Amino acid sequence: MNIEEQLKAIVKKGSVKRSEPMKLHTTFRVGGPAEFFAEPSYDEVLPLVSFLKREKVPYTLIGNGSNLLVSDEGVSGVVISFGTQLAEVEVNGNKIKAQAGILLSRLASFAATNALSGLEFASGIPGTLGGAIAMNAGAYGGEMKDVVESVTVLEDGEVKTYLGKEMDFSYRHSLVLDKEMIVLSVELRLTPGAEEEINATVKELNAKRVEKQPLNYPSAGSTFKRPEGYFAGKLIEEAGLRGYRRGGAQVSEKHCGFVVNTGDATAADIYGLICDVQKKVQEKFDVTLEPEVRLIGRFE
Ligand SMILES: Cc1cc2nc3c(=O)[nH]c(=O)nc-3n(C[C@H](O)[C@H](O)[C@H](O)COP(=O)(O)OP(=O)(O)OC[C@H]3O[C@@H](n4cnc5c(N)ncnc54)[C@H](O)[C@@H]3O)c2cc1C
Repeated sequence: MNIEEQLKAIVKKGSVKRSEPMKLHTTFRVGGPAEFFAEPSYDEVLPLVSFLKREKVPYTLIGNGSNLLVSDEGVSGVVISFGTQLAEVEVNGNKIKAQAGILLSRLASFAATNALSGLEFASGIPGTLGGAIAMNAGAYGGEMKDVVESVTVLEDGEVKTYLGKEMDFSYRHSLVLDKEMIVLSVELRLTPGAEEEINATVKELNAKRVEKQPLNYPSAGSTFKRPEGYFAGKLIEEAGLRGYRRGGAQVSEKHCGFVVNTGDATAADIYGLICDVQKKVQEKFDVTLEPEVRLIGRFE
């Protein structure tokens, strides 16, 4: 059996595709083909990863692709996506347990329906729960670290559960990014609240997003991490880069912290623009901007 047949023999409930354009799976809407693109069911994750490790086939894990820049050449090996599978969720008192592929918007609305507060901040972040744990996603004063009770991961071929405090959460960082961990499910600890109030907060925060962020263009959200003591968007604006372009990539006119795809950007355009912005800001303010967006594939 060739690799494709072997993958299909393991991933039966989910799906396996060959040469899948990654621009269909990233919010930047750029990225060349994944050699193989697998969407396993929960039970298929462990056998799939064990097989790939045994056969030394490289793999890349993605959630909703909302914090990724995938190169135009694409990705060799297997991209494992949790984007459409692994979306079960259940409530037990103040706790919600959910699988890693669930979208934060759905999770936040599930919490609201169950009159549980604490996830309002996350409702407008367009990622999966697994991606949000990996990145310790946050907004409007909240971050995942505040609500995580425990995280169940696949690590070194074993399923393990870590307490939230063991996850080494910090600004846009967690243990998941340091170790080769795959988040399978997460238990969240929330507080009782009134559904109407929770929904009102969600509405208010989402209105702020619409007002401040260039949501009409493909992007990966804030392109750079917030450097200590500064705001990336402000530095970029003060460096005279509002609206600065490279091919189809542009520093957003509306919010300089966002790089947007104006329609026909390549990953190379976006990467080149990121490098230009870093260089200009370093020269002008002696501040290093570190990308928040994760690069996948080869960039030069
Ligand atoms: C319009 C817009 C607004 C945004 N606003 C915010 C915001 O307010 N706050 C914020 O923090 N971010 C924001 N983001 C960025 C992004 O949505 C978050 O980083 C999100 O948490 C990424 O989740 P994802 O599922 O899309 O992960 P992906 O982008 O697919 O992956 C991100 C990283 O997580 C890893 N990963 C994904 N799933 C798993 C898993 N199950 N196990 C282990 N590792 C995994 C990937 O390997 C990768 O390293 C925004 C993005 C956009 C496009």
